Amino acid sequence: MNQKALFIIFGGTGDLAYRKLYPALFNLYEKGYLKEDFAVIGTARRPWSNDHYHEVVMSAIEDAGRDSGRTNDDLPRKFASHFYYQSHNVDDVDHYVALRKLADELDEKYDLQGNRIFYLAMAPRFFGTIAGHLKDQALLTKGNGFNRLIIEKPFGRDYPSAKELNDSISGSFKEEQIFRIDHYLGKEPIQSIAGLRFGNALFNSLWNKEHIDNIQITLSESLGVEERAGYYETAGAMRDMVQNHIMQIVSLLTMERPDVFDSEHLRDKKIEALENIQMYTKEEAKKYFIRGQYGADEANTQLGYRDEEGTDNQSTVETFVAGKLITHNPSLDGVPVYIRTGKRLTKKSTQINIVFKNDDQNIFAKDASEKLKTNVLTMHIEPDQGFTLEFNTKTGNQGYNLSPVHLRYRKTATEKAQIPDAYEGLIRDALMGNKTNFAHWHEVSQAWKIMDVVREAWDEEEPAFPNYASGSMGPEAAMQLLADDGRKWVFNP
Ligand code: NAD
Repeated sequence: MNQKALFIIFGGTGDLAYRKLYPALFNLYEKGYLKEDFAVIGTARRPWSNDHYHEVVMSAIEDAGRDSGRTNDDLPRKFASHFYYQSHNVDDVDHYVALRKLADELDEKYDLQGNRIFYLAMAPRFFGTIAGHLKDQALLTKGNGFNRLIIEKPFGRDYPSAKELNDSISGSFKEEQIFRIDHYLGKEPIQSIAGLRFGNALFNSLWNKEHIDNIQITLSESLGVEERAGYYETAGAMRDMVQNHIMQIVSLLTMERPDVFDSEHLRDKKIEALENIQMYTKEEAKKYFIRGQYGADEANTQLGYRDEEGTDNQSTVETFVAGKLITHNPSLDGVPVYIRTGKRLTKKSTQINIVFKNDDQNIFAKDASEKLKTNVLTMHIEPDQGFTLEFNTKTGNQGYNLSPVHLRYRKTATEKAQIPDAYEGLIRDALMGNKTNFAHWHEVSQAWKIMDVVREAWDEEEPAFPNYASGSMGPEAAMQLLADDGRKWVFNP
């Protein structure tokens, strides 16, 4: 099904627009979700012509599709002809008047029926100004068409700043019109968590405190800060990865089953799940959350964070976070969720491990104290995608001995290549008005509240950085966190 719409992209000359938005929109056009009745206005400060803009859009498509095997045809040019450039300074009211005029003209020319999507591919400090002027200068549709606002992270630095940001846009857009992108929610393996849990009696019946011992979420990167030092110095791992992506994954893993799989029911269950994460005191936060910053590797071939270009040589920014969260959602009440993310770790991998409880009685052991090996379900998110189920089976030897085997399913490279990019799926969802894979304000705010306590606790002490070597799996304290509970990280490369 295709959908008529006018996209107005603020920050049309930026990196996000070039690398993600133009290729994603093109793919939607190629697949027929956008037909000839759509138009895009790109705005930014540079004085580009429409012709130049068309060249940029076509080059973005070419850069993104270099490996796609697409034989060059006329489609990118035809697609780019729907793009219009309007030079614009977000503070200048006159520019909104010009923008409205162009938007109204294009609405008529392409018969867009007043459907408008405003994509803010710009720094969040501009969101309030833009949203305010869109309303004041009557760029919002008044008829039967829709107004939707798509915004990108970061949604604030803590709960108060996130609330301020949200308040600044909520005067112009209602919550149901706001689409907050957390691109992890656009990833196929993250979307399949609900399917795995609620589409299989096998897992659904075991997904409770009686059977799950603990849940582990690891987002480990082998790269360092690379060219993002400027941004990273103001953010750190907690703001960059934990408050948003990891907390979204936590909500999907711990939520109760929605009665119906639609965006409203799912949202309610995710909000409830986040509200049921135990709120720590500062003392608890200090005990259950560990931060780290990478130093050089043992052979001194990789620089420590403080020596990277663009970082402060006394920086206290964390490049690693590990923590324990405790859910009090009824089914999983008391089950710990261990989370971990960091840069310059041993291996790049995003994975979730569901560790099941051991059967207390091992009837196969000669020695009664000998425990059965734990059953573990691993969801591989990236770079591998698929599942591993670890369970015990009889070995082929004499006698009756059990040892673990791994049942593996991995998507092939061809299967992975067929999955649409996260942005393509998310923009299609926004176009169709489907909010399933976007973050609701109550999710964002609750995640900040949980993390703000940790940040406040950390701010009371100067960290002893660097505290882990590049190429390791982070500070020793992150191992100890689980050891203190008699557990260990499943992913331990
Ligand atoms: P960028 O710096 O490349 O682009 C910013 C855009 O804003 C440019 O088009 C610039 O001309 C425009 N702009 C800046 N000041 C302006 C003003 N006063 N008036 C009009 N236009 C102005 O940034 P980006 O990497 O494209 O990121 C945009 C937003 O998306 C940021 O908030 C970023 O955090 C977020 N984001 C980006 C990525 C990514 O992959 N690039 C990923 C996730 C989130």
